[in-house]
Amino acid sequence: MTADDRWVRELDARQRAMLAEMGVKLWLPKPRPAATTATAADPEPPAAPVVAEPAPPAVPAARHPAPAPVQAPTAAPAAAPVIAAAAAPATVAARADIATFDWPALREAVAGCRACGLCESRRNTVFGVGHTQADWMIVGEAPGENEDRQGEPFVGAAGQLLDAMLRACGRSRTSDEAARSVYIANVLKCRPPANRNPAPEEVLRCEPYLARQVALVKPRLIIAMGRFAVQSLLKTTEPIGRLRGRVHHYEGVPVIVTYHPAYLLRTPIDKAKAWADLCMAMAQ
Ligand code: URA
Repeated sequence: MTADDRWVRELDARQRAMLAEMGVKLWLPKPRPAATTATAADPEPPAAPVVAEPAPPAVPAARHPAPAPVQAPTAAPAAAPVIAAAAAPATVAARADIATFDWPALREAVAGCRACGLCESRRNTVFGVGHTQADWMIVGEAPGENEDRQGEPFVGAAGQLLDAMLRACGRSRTSDEAARSVYIANVLKCRPPANRNPAPEEVLRCEPYLARQVALVKPRLIIAMGRFAVQSLLKTTEPIGRLRGRVHHYEGVPVIVTYHPAYLLRTPIDKAKAWADLCMAMAQ
């Protein structure tokens, strides 16, 4: 039995209901007669692969292509990290300051940030939401149109799926109990025009804000959703498919890698893998 299959057998009624909410339908194989399957070494009947029934995609394909190998920026050698280790000179002083900010100072700095060109086109900065001492932190990519308009992360279709995923884990962005809540933040605090991919320079300049959010929340666990969150936190160009299924670390905090909810809306078959990732998160 694979790890992805095992969790299907361990679901309770609440989790099954929640998975239905995520749009994941599950089939369990009928056990084969004992005489034909059971051996001392293999007491359990073999499980069929988990099947997730696709739901109709709810968002247009925009920023989250299928988890193809990550492209390094054209100027960088293929194996180099996407985000350069050295800070851009103009951000060096700010980086040191930002690392000392409390919540109000950090929020104010983000609201007034002009460190990259995204400040020209944004309507609102999108700081973060949730319990400031949550033991889970969710890191997404960048605000989309709805988030830019409302100033809150994950309020569009992807956000609804994220909320359903979190409910399946007994958590929400509005809970006032640290152990049942999450703090949600993005790599970028401003919307890239037309939902284009974040540029490496933009990620670099925004990075100190996310780093400070992590330092202030002090989460017990981070869930990195999508390749830009993964690249920014883990400094790797490995595709998500190769990073899933094990625990990584950011500044000493365990990191679980999973697919972005917007990708899952377009590729519902992978919701089953995302659920396996959430089970791994709950087991930490
Ligand atoms: N996608 C993200 O990564 N973040 C948001 O806030 C919304 C959509």
